[in-house]
Amino acid sequence: MAEETKEINAGLNEAETVTAETEGGEGEDLKINASIQFNDIIFDCPHCGKSIAIDGAGAGMAITCPDCQNVIQVPYPDTMAAETEADASQMQNLHEQLSAAQHRVAELASALDGANLKIEHLEKTQSELKTHLEQMSTEWGVIQNALDRVMALMQEIRLR
Ligand SMILES: [Zn+2]
Repeated sequence: MAEETKEINAGLNEAETVTAETEGGEGEDLKINASIQFNDIIFDCPHCGKSIAIDGAGAGMAITCPDCQNVIQVPYPDTMAAETEADASQMQNLHEQLSAAQHRVAELASALDGANLKIEHLEKTQSELKTHLEQMSTEWGVIQNALDRVMALMQEIRLR
């Protein structure tokens, strides 16, 4: 609960040190180093325009402007905006990939249609061949019967 109600007194020198004060009055240094770090959020006070630097951990917190004493909210850092931008770019990429994939699917569907037509044609041909084969088989049966009869006759002749 102290975390949520914590007010940070952004003070002292411009873009340098910001001290956080908990409600209990115990001071806590969010950032001691005077040099601006990667994590720092640098923004201008919306009331007086003073440049304020605060540790990234202070994002979204309410602070008191050291110049005009107005309570202002620390904005979220640029890295988040950059991340959002990267996300958007990635999303754009995914959209492009999706679009390409959809195009490919359409191509494949069209190719599949063609393949289906070929299969249909092949099935028809196969069925025709099967019919032919059945006819030949029937004819072969007739020939076989005739041969059997000839053989039987020859056997009979030999036995006489
Ligand atoms: Zn101010």
